[in-house]
Amino acid sequence: MPEGPSIFILKELLAPLLISKKIKKAFGNAKIDFTQLIGKKITAIRCWGKQLLLFTEDPVIRIHLLMFGSYSVDKNTRPASSLRLAIEVPKHIVYFYTCSVRLLTKDAVLSYDWQSDVLSNEWNPLKARKKLKAMPKTMVCDALLDQQIFSGVGNIIKNEVLYRIKLHPENLIKSIPSLKLSSVIKEARNYSFDFLKWKKEYSLKKHWLAHTKRTCLRCDLPIIKKYCGRTKRRTFFCIGCQIKYPR
Ligand SMILES: [Zn+2]
Repeated sequence: MPEGPSIFILKELLAPLLISKKIKKAFGNAKIDFTQLIGKKITAIRCWGKQLLLFTEDPVIRIHLLMFGSYSVDKNTRPASSLRLAIEVPKHIVYFYTCSVRLLTKDAVLSYDWQSDVLSNEWNPLKARKKLKAMPKTMVCDALLDQQIFSGVGNIIKNEVLYRIKLHPENLIKSIPSLKLSSVIKEARNYSFDFLKWKKEYSLKKHWLAHTKRTCLRCDLPIIKKYCGRTKRRTFFCIGCQIKYPR
């Protein structure tokens, strides 16, 4: 699944192609009213976590790439059955495949909690902490994937953050010492910016320390692979150095 930083890169790619352009054609097999888009000028592109938001005067086009979504520019690279939305503006056409497409009102989008987006300038760590405190019995591996708290964090970021701060994924929020909980919040944002930088350099995988790895670099012990928590996503961790509290 594309994580927040990948959508951030997509936003940067599309902005110069689409912003201030009028939509000439819009088509695909998404269940939306395409006629609402024709003639509308794209005024801004933002991302909120894993959602890409194309603003027109109204509506806002919300694209979520889900597990297997993808896109291409100027060339249709996939079968028609997977084409959800194509947007044609003067000189360019952008294709979105196997994704969720919805048309939202501007008000609905502006009411999003922008302070929960880990890559946003408005990111608010204190607010994240409050939300975590309100879910004491949640495992930290599930909390990190909660888009209402850490919008943009996906499974890779989760695994790498927990390895980086030496925290066992199955810790309950209430068992995590206060300073360690601060590290969860801080590194969720820090690692997301590292992810963004490495992804732009095409060197993301090279920097993985735990995700899909077999041996812990710190302890030389085998990395465990387990489908942890309520979310049951692939989790990679080391029981030698990632602490489970209370000790
Ligand atoms: Zn280890």
